Amino acid sequence: MPKQKNIYVRLLVLATTIICLPVLLVAQPPKPVIATIIVDAGHGGVDPGAIGQLNTEANVSLSIALKLGKALEEAMPDVKIIYTRTTDDLPGGLKDKNEANRYRAQMANEAHGDLFISIHANAAGKKAGGWYARRKTGKYKKVKNRKGKLVTVPIYESYYVKNWQHGTETFIWAADRNVFKSEAISQTEDEGGETSDDSTDILDLNSPEAMIRAQLYEKKYFAKSLQLATLVEEEFVKSGRVSRGVKQRNEKGIWVLQATGMPSILVETGFVTHTEEEKYINSEKGQEEIVNAVLTAVKRYKAWLEESKNSTGSSNAF
Ligand SMILES: [Zn+2]
Repeated sequence: MPKQKNIYVRLLVLATTIICLPVLLVAQPPKPVIATIIVDAGHGGVDPGAIGQLNTEANVSLSIALKLGKALEEAMPDVKIIYTRTTDDLPGGLKDKNEANRYRAQMANEAHGDLFISIHANAAGKKAGGWYARRKTGKYKKVKNRKGKLVTVPIYESYYVKNWQHGTETFIWAADRNVFKSEAISQTEDEGGETSDDSTDILDLNSPEAMIRAQLYEKKYFAKSLQLATLVEEEFVKSGRVSRGVKQRNEKGIWVLQATGMPSILVETGFVTHTEEEKYINSEKGQEEIVNAVLTAVKRYKAWLEESKNSTGSSNAF
């Protein structure tokens, strides 16, 4: 009976599929938790970033980013490393920093990156190094005013203000500041830091697309970004640096973090405006220590992902 035979054939196919399915699944090599890392040197070209006494932020970031990429390539030969820029120019040879940021994000997304690490240096205060200011001495003197009358006025003195802010900080995108009050995130709003980029008008954060991106980031990438950022700051502390902590912001200066559909961090490797720290981040020793700290953090992050994957059966479960 052809009809019955047909059923037998179907059952046989079904049974074979059920038996073979686990074999087929096992035969597939496990997907690595990190296959591609985007290493981004901040600024470049017409956008020098913060200006120090020795160097610009764009230059020091490029130097550290290239060394970091090389160290990652050596430590993780199976991972593809993609650089957003390898020369002094803005990514893509562009002439506009907002366009360059969009290019960075597009590049990362087209490469289907698993991680986006942006390297920057920080700035604070009126001037790199320090500046002169005036203060009252507490003493007074008598002088003639414009009408020729003797009046008592305070005596001022000039003094040097050292540009004191220093240390590392790692930024993650604040999907919603009120939702994520993690203890790991520094809530203090200290003066200074890199917030001076003026890209909001063009890189509209209130557009429907941006809202969708923010929700996606919150759901899929926030926890991972926070984990990596925390590890980076931990490693900086281990190498003897002052850590200003993990910070979350949702403003123009770190726009690129939410535009990349992947866990993303922005590492402020030190202040170009602090005399000693600028020397350190421009030195071979300093750059090596910074690279090692970030590299170790990435290795620990990868191990954490693998552990999470093994315990939940999925790397996207958190
Ligand atoms: Zn910067």
